Amino acid sequence: MKYELVLKGKIVQEDKVFLGQIGINNGKIMKVSSIKEELLGKEKIDYGNNYIFPGFIDTHVHCFSNPEEGITKTSKLAAVGGITTFIDMPYDSPIPITNVNRFEKKANLVNKESVIDIGLWGTITKENGTSNLKPLIKSGAIAFKMSTFETDEKRFPQIPNYEIVKTMEILATTNTLVAFHSEDNDLVQSLIKKHLAEDKVYPLAHAETHPAYTEVISVLKLLELAYWTKAKLHIVHVSHPRTLDIINIFKKMGVDVTAETCYPYLLLNTNDLDKYGPFAKMSPPVRSADDVKRMWEHLKQGNIDFITSDHVFWDKIDKEKGINNIFEAPAGLPGLEVMIPLMFDAMVINNNFTPSEFSKIMSTNPANRFEILNKGKIKEGYDADFTIIDPNKKWEISSNTLLFTNSKLLPFNRKNIKGKIKNTFVRGVSVFDGKKVNVQPGFGNFIHK
Ligand SMILES: [Zn+2]
Repeated sequence: MKYELVLKGKIVQEDKVFLGQIGINNGKIMKVSSIKEELLGKEKIDYGNNYIFPGFIDTHVHCFSNPEEGITKTSKLAAVGGITTFIDMPYDSPIPITNVNRFEKKANLVNKESVIDIGLWGTITKENGTSNLKPLIKSGAIAFKMSTFETDEKRFPQIPNYEIVKTMEILATTNTLVAFHSEDNDLVQSLIKKHLAEDKVYPLAHAETHPAYTEVISVLKLLELAYWTKAKLHIVHVSHPRTLDIINIFKKMGVDVTAETCYPYLLLNTNDLDKYGPFAKMSPPVRSADDVKRMWEHLKQGNIDFITSDHVFWDKIDKEKGINNIFEAPAGLPGLEVMIPLMFDAMVINNNFTPSEFSKIMSTNPANRFEILNKGKIKEGYDADFTIIDPNKKWEISSNTLLFTNSKLLPFNRKNIKGKIKNTFVRGVSVFDGKKVNVQPGFGNFIHK
């Protein structure tokens, strides 16, 4: 048998890493084997001792928080960053994805404009939105995202408790994941009001007005509601170890819950917020160095199911609004292009995580939780999605050399790391070759369960 493409290198699977080869036809993995018997291929690439990972999956991306970004640009960033699939959040500006009409338009746009595979989240309006849940699932919504915190009444509303319960009940019957941005709105808004009245608008004021308990009590409520409704619950961007302690207790009581954190919560702390101000502002905020240490302990113990970027693009001009008053800046950082290299360096190079553990957190676990078919593993029958990493290559992250992000990635600018992405493959096609994106918009597919 002759394959269209054969890749050779250190193959990363769940339980082992071995020097092997992968035979690919029609975008699928047909054969995974050792190097004893050479596989025949029309095209063969030998990556030597570099790692062949299953393509990485980022379940938390915002293409349209800033409408200037869009799918082509964001999906190119992902390809460069070694991400082969992402799931895009529903909080599009100016109107979120709350009905079938908007959902289908967005799905068509993915098919026309993307260079990698993309799935879509749905959400609901603040009131009377739950009748749209089932139609959205039928259209292919992978999961639903909601918030207990109000960023914007229309685009990013706080969903009232009664609507949360109704949503959980409906989604429990359809086995669909419901995820929350979890911060207590009343507490945070009151704290911000007080800080503004006292003219406390320095960078750390953002952390002071979102103390850990505002995240924890909101998550507690959701866990308890998931217990009664049997909802399949996911907590996005967990920022504090105490939240994970609590989630663990409910897991033991049988609640079907997973937790994700985002790469900045493992790599930045309040000293960075103090130093970089709006450029390190995200909600929930980064936490103290001691808290971050405990987040790493949770990661090692397997209490963090996966890590996402929460990629959002703000122009430098938007972020600079917060230089003299942190509350004036939008929250969120870009990350698609840098998350995998940063986390590979932090986890595998510097913190003794095995490549298999890394791949589980960055690919297998999200694929399983979101039921993304045929992705997340290097296994016969699965999509030929791969990310090749050279573990020995040292390089400097620089906002001048990054390909598509023109926002200044200040917290990570000039950081030296080890481990570089050599190649990204989606369904057997090289979408990024280490220098440039090789496919046209429209190569990527809209994916659903
Ligand atoms: Zn987000």
